[in-house]
Amino acid sequence: MKTIGLLGGMSWESSALYYRWINEMVRDELGRLHSAKIAMVSVNFQDIEDLQHTGEWEKSGAMLSQSARQIEAAGADFLLICTNTMHKVAPQIEAAINIPLLHIADATAEAIKAQGIKTIGLLGTNFTMEQDFYAGRLAEKHGLTVLTPPKADRDIVHRIIYEELVIGVIRHDSRAQYLRIMEDLQQQGAEGVIEGCTEIVTLVQQKHTAVPLFDTTAIHAKAAVKMALDKSK
Ligand code: GLU
Repeated sequence: MKTIGLLGGMSWESSALYYRWINEMVRDELGRLHSAKIAMVSVNFQDIEDLQHTGEWEKSGAMLSQSARQIEAAGADFLLICTNTMHKVAPQIEAAINIPLLHIADATAEAIKAQGIKTIGLLGTNFTMEQDFYAGRLAEKHGLTVLTPPKADRDIVHRIIYEELVIGVIRHDSRAQYLRIMEDLQQQGAEGVIEGCTEIVTLVQQKHTAVPLFDTTAIHAKAAVKMALDKSK
């Protein structure tokens, strides 16, 4: 079994899910007392959030590169960055390490394409919904058509992530807003919606809606387990 590298803390609410789900999947796959081999570094999310909102991406990239190097030194065979948003600095992190990066958007695109879906809605932080590093990659590398909500709704989705979900606050009215926005995307032609922020699954799960959901946390964790248990590589 390979050692999975987890760069977490963004936020720890979702890193805890990664840790639990990866271990559960390895147990389900191998049985008995098997659990995952994991090397994890969890950062202080306040440091990252401060730099996001002042636009100092280079600086946060350097900080995360340092953590990634610690994970590599701890023996990880490959790396997951446990957030969609901070994949904005994935190229900088990748350049700082010698182990492969399992990119969250690639894992998600594979899951979407496996369902035969071509047009997909995307919810996440404003950085993820509005910038090219994520939606652009889904379109250019994977040939998907990506729909995002109008500006007012993007702001609602973004605000709920930073004011509620990353600190573990789950509100019925916020869930209702997300469900409305997801249904609007479906009305516009989306065949499913990406929960493109690793905390969204704490608010909206598949049981809440008929819109097919692609939870990036579960998809990323599952891809990691597949890679860790793959004997051919
Ligand atoms: N976990 C969230 C994401 O997947 C947002 C936190 C962050 O800004 O990294 O994008």
